[in-house]
Amino acid sequence: MSVESHVDVLVIGAGPAGLMCAHGLKRAGVNVRVIDKRPKKVAAGQADGIQPRTIEVLQSYGLAERLLREGNQMHMAGFYNPSPKGGIERTGRAADVTAPTARYPFEVTLHQGAIEAIFLDSMREMGLEVDRPIVPSALELSTDEKVLKDPNSYAVKATLNHLDSEDGKTETGVVEIVHAKYVLGSDGAHSWVRKTMGINMDGEQTDYIWGVVDLVPKTDFPDIRNRCAIHSNNGSCMIIPREGDKVRLYIQLSENDVVVDRATGRVDKEKTKVGPEELLEVGRKSLSPYKIDKVGDIDWWTIYLIGQRVASKFSVHERVFIAGDACHTHSPKAGQGMNASMNDTHNLIWKLTHVLRQWADISLLKTYEFERRKYAQDLIEFDKKFAKLFSGKPRSDEFQDGVSHEEFLEAFQTFGGFTSGIGITTRPHLHLLFPTSWNQSTNPSLIV
Ligand SMILES: Cc1cc2nc3c(=O)[nH]c(=O)nc-3n(C[C@H](O)[C@H](O)[C@H](O)COP(=O)(O)OP(=O)(O)OC[C@H]3O[C@@H](n4cnc5c(N)ncnc54)[C@H](O)[C@@H]3O)c2cc1C
Repeated sequence: MSVESHVDVLVIGAGPAGLMCAHGLKRAGVNVRVIDKRPKKVAAGQADGIQPRTIEVLQSYGLAERLLREGNQMHMAGFYNPSPKGGIERTGRAADVTAPTARYPFEVTLHQGAIEAIFLDSMREMGLEVDRPIVPSALELSTDEKVLKDPNSYAVKATLNHLDSEDGKTETGVVEIVHAKYVLGSDGAHSWVRKTMGINMDGEQTDYIWGVVDLVPKTDFPDIRNRCAIHSNNGSCMIIPREGDKVRLYIQLSENDVVVDRATGRVDKEKTKVGPEELLEVGRKSLSPYKIDKVGDIDWWTIYLIGQRVASKFSVHERVFIAGDACHTHSPKAGQGMNASMNDTHNLIWKLTHVLRQWADISLLKTYEFERRKYAQDLIEFDKKFAKLFSGKPRSDEFQDGVSHEEFLEAFQTFGGFTSGIGITTRPHLHLLFPTSWNQSTNPSLIV
């Protein structure tokens, strides 16, 4: 069976980037459709940190109140280093956010599934649901210059295949043709849209492997309700206090700890011997002499592989865009993944709306890549510096080249404006908006 339809914007992938986009466009009255290959939304785990600037952005869409109600506020950071007596000791504490002008000067931690639920419920009230499980199988972009120049032409033809709602894999035989004016690929780090449009990921091929465990702890560790960076002679670990009594432990692993399936670029969890108990054991060693155990079962865990890469471009002819993990990946240490992804599409929502309404020239859409790719490159640079400090051996009498507490704290505070999102600025780019042939009288409708 095959059906054919028309839509202004087709969003492929309903993670944080796609949901932000679909929600914002729907709120602006745009005809938008959002699809996802998963039969159900994320239930627990994955990303969990919302930065001060992202809280402001969510507030502008009327979504911050529920986030603040359900999430945990993280105000303080603790720093632990090796103690001369053995084990670790606290070497300092600082405000978790160094952004004095922030309206919300703290981070909110809440699992990705709960954050996605905030968007989904608000979308439902506006009559928009995610269509799932559906995958695209073809994407054709018009090559006709006239079509591409017309902001209201249906320049993209997408073929969508419906999958079985139980297993999320078997094709049901329902195939749709969707004619879209614009398409967003917000389909994650292994983005089908990015690959189909021939966009490369630039960056070194080194991948970092992270172990993550979410649990309710039973512990004598004094800073368990603060974000903590722990440098111990038994490895580094990060503690993130979460909603309710939950706590997340981030543990960096090495290639020797896991088996990577090179064909998919993912950790082969069946062949990998490290599981949640082993991850907790690494956490225990890092925290010694403090004790940590779990109350009840481990809530969620993962081992995932992530590289520091940015896509070579963020759009094709400003008709097919990519956003979020589809165009930038980095480590989870500074809690930027979900924030960067949602802020990509926050940048795109108003621009698409203005262009579709013909309040702005179509060239406005070029500023999306200009602004967000520069930001993503800065993020990778920051991530590389921070990763070196976080993963480096702690300084000691025997290891004078190691990372000192002062060095780590300085970096943490220096980058505060960037990591909070409050200090992010954009370079002027008038040359993109006002090509040399442009003048006010010939294009008075341009609003930027
Ligand atoms: C297993 C895992 C664990 C993670 N753990 C952490 C963590 O501990 N801490 C942290 O900060 N970050 C973590 N991340 C990263 C974090 O989830 C992302 O940075 C963030 O969610 C980015 O949002 P996004 O919307 O760009 O992509 P995603 O959240 O990946 O969303 C992409 C969406 O697209 C859908 N999709 C994918 N392919 C297709 C397709 N072909 N057709 C239709 N739909 C498709 C997916 O089902 C998904 O819903 C994790 C990611 C994964 C996958």
